[in-house]
Amino acid sequence: MQTTIKSRVRTKARPVFHWGTARRYNAFVDYSKARFGERVQKVSVDAGFTCPNRDGSKGYAGCTYCNNVSFVPPYCQPGMSIAGQVSAGVEYLSRRYNAQKFIAYFQAYSNTYAPLEHLQNLYEQALSHPQIIGLSIGTRPDCIDEEKIAYLEELARDYYITIEYGAESIYNQTLAKLNRQHTFQEWVDAVRLTAGRGIHISTHVILGLPGESTEQMLRTAEVISDYPIDYLKVHHLHVVKKTILAAQYLKEPFPLFEYRQYLHVVTAFVQRLNPDIKIQRLVGETHPRHLIGPHWGLRVPTILRHIEEELQKQDAWQGKLYHDSHWK
Ligand code: SF4
Repeated sequence: MQTTIKSRVRTKARPVFHWGTARRYNAFVDYSKARFGERVQKVSVDAGFTCPNRDGSKGYAGCTYCNNVSFVPPYCQPGMSIAGQVSAGVEYLSRRYNAQKFIAYFQAYSNTYAPLEHLQNLYEQALSHPQIIGLSIGTRPDCIDEEKIAYLEELARDYYITIEYGAESIYNQTLAKLNRQHTFQEWVDAVRLTAGRGIHISTHVILGLPGESTEQMLRTAEVISDYPIDYLKVHHLHVVKKTILAAQYLKEPFPLFEYRQYLHVVTAFVQRLNPDIKIQRLVGETHPRHLIGPHWGLRVPTILRHIEEELQKQDAWQGKLYHDSHWK
């Protein structure tokens, strides 16, 4: 009896996150360096997609926080062909970061929202550049189907393919407030359709959404840990100018994270997360000229250092409070 109980209790000893660093969370950047033996840089392209929440198939207004202009990098020129954008981006980023290998990042709007033939043309233009080793494709969970996944599965035999599904929240009530026009179940279905096919799955969650309590945010870490996702991006809510959320906030302000409060919540979140999930982001950044709030006056590297220090202070690490579903 005693043996059975022991075998069901996960050791709480702090794991070493495999990639030879002292970090207290499983950082994608460390994993990527270990996997590829060098820095791999993402090069963003804008393929001119829209999304069903913009073109009227589901809605015209978009998600309340959406302002894609705020994250188009300076070298990205949407008018150019994908091949041209990739070449320009690779040249710019090689000079800046001395990188040799790149992943084409289809970032703006919903990058699987087109007929398969069109997607093939765009993705294969990017992959034809000799320094591109794979694709990272950001999309909505309701913009994928078996035909597209089968094609990506085929690409994944030769390239490093990641699909990024925005979840944002696990609560349908929150998703409705954000006007996401999809449910959490649709995210679950997309993840299940993609899993086990050689395609890496990333997802995206926002902390501090209006109406969500700290307990709900922490529960999010536990729930998404039960699904076969490889990578995770987490960040705090930004209220960006020229969005519906900005208008709502200016009319009736709602609480935004104070800095210390975010450090507290994000470190608690990380502790509940499956330690196998590689973290791609723990904080976001919007250029101050686009941002209504919160204004912390700190850049990402400083915030990441403070998150590390906070984990250290609490003697905490990713997965310290994690129990996988097989044990529940
Ligand atoms: S799904 Fe993405 S691109 Fe479409 S409205 Fe929402 S945030 Fe914007």
